[in-house]
Amino acid sequence: MKSEHPSDYPASYSPFADTGGEWAPDPASPLPLHRQISAFLMAKISSRAWPPGMRLAPQRELCRQLGVNRSTLVTALGVLAERGLIEGRRGGGTRVTAVQADGKAEGAKPFGNWNDYLEEGTHYPNLPAVQAINRLEYEPGLIRLGTGEPAPGLLPGAAMTRVLAELAARPLPPLSYEEPLGSPSLRRAVSRQLLKSGIAADPASILITSGALQGLQLIALGLLPRGSTILLEKPSYLYSIHAFQSAGVKFSGLPMDQGGLLTGRIAAEALRTKAAMLYTIPSFHNPTGIVMDRERRQAVMEITGELGLPILEDGAYQELWLDSPPPPPLKALDRAGRVLHLGTLSKAASPGLRIGWIVGPEPVIRRLADIKMQTDYGASSLSQLAAARWLDGGYHEEHLTVLRGKLRERREFMRQLLQAHFTELATWSIPAGGFYIWLSLHKPVPLRRLFTAALQAGLLLNTGDLYDRGDSRHLRLSYAYASPEELSRGLPALAGIIKQNIN
Ligand code: PMP
Repeated sequence: MKSEHPSDYPASYSPFADTGGEWAPDPASPLPLHRQISAFLMAKISSRAWPPGMRLAPQRELCRQLGVNRSTLVTALGVLAERGLIEGRRGGGTRVTAVQADGKAEGAKPFGNWNDYLEEGTHYPNLPAVQAINRLEYEPGLIRLGTGEPAPGLLPGAAMTRVLAELAARPLPPLSYEEPLGSPSLRRAVSRQLLKSGIAADPASILITSGALQGLQLIALGLLPRGSTILLEKPSYLYSIHAFQSAGVKFSGLPMDQGGLLTGRIAAEALRTKAAMLYTIPSFHNPTGIVMDRERRQAVMEITGELGLPILEDGAYQELWLDSPPPPPLKALDRAGRVLHLGTLSKAASPGLRIGWIVGPEPVIRRLADIKMQTDYGASSLSQLAAARWLDGGYHEEHLTVLRGKLRERREFMRQLLQAHFTELATWSIPAGGFYIWLSLHKPVPLRRLFTAALQAGLLLNTGDLYDRGDSRHLRLSYAYASPEELSRGLPALAGIIKQNIN
């Protein structure tokens, strides 16, 4: 099984993942820093939170996380090595010693180590860069220039508090398991919401999921045979996760222009790869921000209709228009029941509520619901209750109006900063909605090196290679997360770092 995994996914742990990156030695303590660190590491090892054989992060990374210099870390690690708790392996970094001296005291057969298991599950690990981003997003002080969610201040804290207060004012229904398709009242509310974008979907055609991401997982696992191929835009959000690849599904990327997916190669590519499905993000595409124009939508429907090719439409950002609403979703043009449509509350209202949905023909929805029941027995019933009230109480529409105004301001602010600092370095288009500006560098830059250099300067980047493995000249910038003050510090600094890293 190991050989099926792409070779660039090492099974390395982030040693501080389980502390949330929060622990750091205390400079004010009378105990020297290296003693604090060695005590912390010893506790990790003796509790087996760091099991025998576990690989430690590189020293440079440990120093950064602990906020200490190399010599302090080396002193601390020296103490552990002397006690036989860690060992260095040439080319293999530092590991927790495979068989600990007290292994026999437990009366157990010495355990080989978990590393033998870590690459064996069917699900691929995230790309190392995505793992790093997932961890670093919780480190205070970093300026997050590409994050794909609204800043906490843009989320509707006060309105959500009112929703929860309304729920609390009445006796709470029992928090039982919900029906396989999800709470009927939420499905009715989603059905009414979808109608506003032109999608007529009966509640029986809607499956509530734990975010749109779970919708992608369910479709990958439930509808697509191993070895099949899906067509998709390149770049795409889908390249940055492994939901489909883990299910043995291959990708065939198609080019885009400012009008969206180029349709010229769909038919030939579908025939060549015997494609099983076309995945697209037609409105405010992640990562490019592009909107597929009306004619292109029509053409995609016609071409795939002739091929009998199903479509998976990801509408995660479609409500977040800033200038004017995008053309109707593909699902609204679907007369044959060929389009599956994904939606979510994550991008406007609450990423943490974990509420999304799939719209599709009833047999498909029931099949996916059956897998969902085997996966998690349904999204949280408390979240579903809150989401139904959020939509039914008109809070969603009210919030969208406010959010659009704030995103417009931030988009304009970022436009001015780019104009001032990036005209020599890159080109970009101003998106008509969503969160992202796809910065296109004039010259290629080694993106992994740029990521590291930016991180050292306190900037967290979403580089283009996450969305198209071969890319070396794009960055996904987001005006939704970093504050204007952070943007005005971070973007000029980024321009300087890019200049230093151009070959
Ligand atoms: N689809 C797209 C295009 C996205 O950008 C995201 C979030 N990054 C998702 C789906 C998944 O979002 P969630 O699971 O939070 O609904």
